[in-house]
Amino acid sequence: MPDFRFPTADSRRDFLRTLSLGVGATLLAPSAFALPPERRLGVALVGLGKYSTGQLAPALQQTKLCRLVGIATGSPAKAAKWKEQYQLADKNIYNYKNFDRIIDNPDIDVVYVVTPNALHAEFAVRAAQAGKHVMCEKPMATTVADARHMIAASKKAGKQLSIGYRLHFEPHHQELMRLGQTQAYGKINKLLSDNGFKFNNDTPWRVSKSLAGGGPLMDMGIYCLQGCLYTKGQVPLSVTAKFDQKPDNPLFREVESGMSWQLNFADGSTADCRTSYAENLSGRLRAEAANGWLELQPAFAYGGLAGQTSKTPNPLALPNINQQAAQMDDFAACILHNKPTRVPGEMGLRDVQLLLAIYRAAETGQKIPTNEVQQLIDRTQAK
Ligand code: NAD
Repeated sequence: MPDFRFPTADSRRDFLRTLSLGVGATLLAPSAFALPPERRLGVALVGLGKYSTGQLAPALQQTKLCRLVGIATGSPAKAAKWKEQYQLADKNIYNYKNFDRIIDNPDIDVVYVVTPNALHAEFAVRAAQAGKHVMCEKPMATTVADARHMIAASKKAGKQLSIGYRLHFEPHHQELMRLGQTQAYGKINKLLSDNGFKFNNDTPWRVSKSLAGGGPLMDMGIYCLQGCLYTKGQVPLSVTAKFDQKPDNPLFREVESGMSWQLNFADGSTADCRTSYAENLSGRLRAEAANGWLELQPAFAYGGLAGQTSKTPNPLALPNINQQAAQMDDFAACILHNKPTRVPGEMGLRDVQLLLAIYRAAETGQKIPTNEVQQLIDRTQAK
């Protein structure tokens, strides 16, 4: 395992201190400051599916430090539609074949990869080789080798690589991180999280092992994993897991229909998580600590998040924001200010390793120590 960890409450305080010191404060506080459009970083979306169409492109109309200026798509019809809808210049519209020509395009600073999971690596590496900063959707990759390759390509280019972990920029989750990591309610003994929905095959690649890398664990369970790790502020020592019994449904020929897994932390605390493509789950994140509890539900949606704790019987009075706009403006601020992103490629790699360890635990029925994750994965991939 790399020794990469989540930013701690301390590093978060440092970040807030930076804001209050005024050094670049306006740059780092997107809500307080907007660059004129011509000075904003140019973003190109690669893969114009549901998430790009429904969330990212609209969010990029609300950002203050970056803006949508380009696209890469395999569909000429989508290219024409997006060109008109977002007033895109012809020279900023690419297909998957001529995408590498982006190297000659100074309008585009950031490439945002929003393709099926297994294709993230190809586009992230090509974008880095073209000298662009990269934002890549979750899960970062379907293999450790791909994730490593992406990190190496960005490092070689001297550009940043970030993962689309939008909830790191969301006030309810930031509060859970703060309360959990500072042990404001005492030591966290137990975490509980679930996230799942009834998949209707609207995006068939999600049940293709080769394109998605797995089923709901890769897609929805990753939020539970992330949430537990950043609330606890620790990486687990070991994992155990169990696949759900598959329903009689040909959709789940290649991937799991659902699974439950447990994370075991060094201090004896545990996290119980569950994900599914066969049933709608509540989408919650709960921490039970020595002196009380914390809970978000719904925890993982794009909006309407609500939180409660044992000490605040009323819902936490926190705003719901445009998570994707906050995520993109934070990345733009990092680039403009030459600061590392708090959700770097190394975090994506760590999570890919943990997800693969969870699969291994379910396949073998064994407790899988996470310090052996790398060895196991290397062995699997050498076969
Ligand atoms: P989608 O199927 O709606 O979009 C995928 C896009 O990739 C489509 O435009 C498709 O044409 C294109 N594509 C290119 N090559 C393809 C191929 N070989 N097979 C299939 N499609 C191909 O999926 P989506 O829901 O937009 O998800 C895209 C990525 O975004 C995934 O990695 C997913 O995990 C991630 N995502 C993240 C969030 C989030 O909240 N952070 C939400 C949704 C999706």
